[in-house]
Amino acid sequence: MALLLFDIDGTLLAPRGLGRRAFDASLRALYGRVPEQAFPYDGLMDVAIAEKTLALLGVDSDDAAVRALLAEYVRRLPAERPASREGFLCPGVPTVLDEAISRGHTLFLLTGNLRSSAYVKLGFFGLEGYFPGGAFSGDALRRHDLVPVALARAARGAGRPFGSSETWIVGDSVHDVRTARDGGVRCAAVCTGTTPAEALRREGPDLLLADLAAPGPLWAAVEGAP
Ligand SMILES: [Mg+2]
Repeated sequence: MALLLFDIDGTLLAPRGLGRRAFDASLRALYGRVPEQAFPYDGLMDVAIAEKTLALLGVDSDDAAVRALLAEYVRRLPAERPASREGFLCPGVPTVLDEAISRGHTLFLLTGNLRSSAYVKLGFFGLEGYFPGGAFSGDALRRHDLVPVALARAARGAGRPFGSSETWIVGDSVHDVRTARDGGVRCAAVCTGTTPAEALRREGPDLLLADLAAPGPLWAAVEGAP
């Protein structure tokens, strides 16, 4: 039975700008403006998004400023709750999660979201109950350092350790693939975010799937692994 570490944005959810809107609302509240130059949030940790945004704004991006911006973001994120789920769930979600559990796999998160923002976003769509825990922005500075955090927490939760060959990151960005490689675990990349399949393929994931709506190859790879 495998440990599946799911990314959130672009893998489970198509965020459709809800995180960015909450960030922008926070910046307007704190600084009265947003940066003129936008940058993709894909695969970045919330702490890094905050640092980069403050730098683009030309204001001090010390720890206190980053913490204040993220606190405001977490406070404002619930207001972004969509009126309906439609268009927000990636293909195959949540069926693939039910199937993973019924096949005996352990689900956990490995995400650049803060813990609080991760569960707010999942809660918008009733997905929070699938994930008893995870590793989040704020648990480590670099994304691949989240892997040992997730492994330790999953082991505590499941009552047994998970080896690197039975641990899979499921994610949509090159950062997810690199995190798996640098963290010594395996990776199933999905093309449901904004990263083209070819760019994901170049990173050499163990498995590349169009989406999670036809997860047969995922089960074959995960369950066939020694
Ligand atoms: Mg993602």
